[in-house]
Amino acid sequence: MEFRTVNPATGEVIRTWRTMASDEVMQTARRARDAFNQWGDLSVEERVPYFQRLAKVLRDNAEQWAVLVTTEMGKPVTEAKAEIEKCAWMTEVYAANAAAWLADEKVVADGLEHIVTFQPLGVIFSIMPWNYPFWQALRFAVPGLMAGNTSLLKHASNVTGCAFAIEDAFVQAGFPDNVFRTIVPDYETVSALIASDNVQGVSLTGSTQVGRHIGSEAGRSLKKVVLELGGSDPFIILEDAEIDFTARGAVTGRMVTAGQSCIASKRFIVVEKIVDAFTRRFTELMKELKVGDPLNQTTQVGSLVNEAAISELEGQLAQSVSLGARVLCGGERLPGRGFFFPPTVVTNTRPGMRLVDEEVFGPIAPIITVKDEAEAISLANSSEFGLGGSVWTRDLARGVRVARQVESGTLFVNSITKSDPRMPFGGVKNSGLGRELSHYGLKEFVNVKGISLYKHG
Ligand code: NAP
Repeated sequence: MEFRTVNPATGEVIRTWRTMASDEVMQTARRARDAFNQWGDLSVEERVPYFQRLAKVLRDNAEQWAVLVTTEMGKPVTEAKAEIEKCAWMTEVYAANAAAWLADEKVVADGLEHIVTFQPLGVIFSIMPWNYPFWQALRFAVPGLMAGNTSLLKHASNVTGCAFAIEDAFVQAGFPDNVFRTIVPDYETVSALIASDNVQGVSLTGSTQVGRHIGSEAGRSLKKVVLELGGSDPFIILEDAEIDFTARGAVTGRMVTAGQSCIASKRFIVVEKIVDAFTRRFTELMKELKVGDPLNQTTQVGSLVNEAAISELEGQLAQSVSLGARVLCGGERLPGRGFFFPPTVVTNTRPGMRLVDEEVFGPIAPIITVKDEAEAISLANSSEFGLGGSVWTRDLARGVRVARQVESGTLFVNSITKSDPRMPFGGVKNSGLGRELSHYGLKEFVNVKGISLYKHG
């Protein structure tokens, strides 16, 4: 079966691809399984130089691969380059810390010292989304491989070019054959692969709906699974927040990748005392953003990914407006070719409106007024999601107190939510299960084996 990649900023077809036949995919999985026999036997110290070279390959190719990212999914080329740079940094963080993070642990029990050791599982199958084509795939693959597993990547169809560029990065870095492979399977083959003996774990980053499906398939085969799913992160503004600083954070938090980030700030929950001042400044700043050709170095907001994304946004906005929401800026797709939607601020929003209840994957910022901190926390927790979030206050202790009460995998005080290789990343509720990054992510796909020692006789 053939499919096409379309540049969302221009509507032009970039390339036609072919889905791999099931046999070809299964054979690749067998090869990855064979490669595991040698790769999994190396010590962490022996694996580290491969990752040091990978970081360099990513940096050396950042310019050209950033253009590929931009033409396949529409984000500004400056953001795409920063994404690849972040992948190189994350790879270096693992190269520097993996030996310590995977070191045996000692447990003293019954007067004797026992061992907990972390052994690789085998082939881990990753299914990844298009919004951060390099970051999502490598954020899983680097720790997975560092722990001694081998890996298969099925990327979102629209970023198949990126998927093969990532495979090329591993080849250029000198990794042994089949330690990392990109495959292009149809959905039926994805299911067959999950069930196959050649795959020992599954990692999906994507929508909650697809997460449920892949999670069930993995569960049926009793395969370990990590699910990084959707989010509707609260951006909580308390009455002591500094307006300009917070409004600038709100713009970045909402608008990164034109709002198409799982951890974008999606619900702006503002204490009534400062809601007018915040809304005024936030709207001014949103209007200043430069929307346009994502290949232009000065563009701040690129294209949305496709027609379906833009019409979903229009539907969410129309339903909310029909219930009383008010658009302060933006609100209508831009004319001309490509899928451009302007920065949009909406007030008078509340639960029951799609802009508040659903994940809004684009540049629309709903502002919800609350009377105080307690109502802000309760509203933040009323979502089906629990990925990230932020709270903005001059009082750090208060920020931590609020952060502890928000149901989420990460919570930032006075910063937008960001992924960081030194910190765990993941969600609760419908945002998923398991963790990526840090030593927690490194240990998701390992056999945590206890070796208990007793004296003879
Ligand atoms: P998606 O539609 O769920 O797709 C994700 C991946 O699953 C793609 O590779 C897709 O391949 C594949 N897929 C879809 N249906 C499948 C099926 N029935 N069987 C097998 N594979 C299937 O998500 P998306 O639109 O690419 O990404 C946006 C979503 O991802 C948002 O909800 C966002 O919040 C979430 N996300 C979460 C995180 C996180 O870390 N929590 C990070 C980024 C994004 P095809 O392209 O071939 O359909």
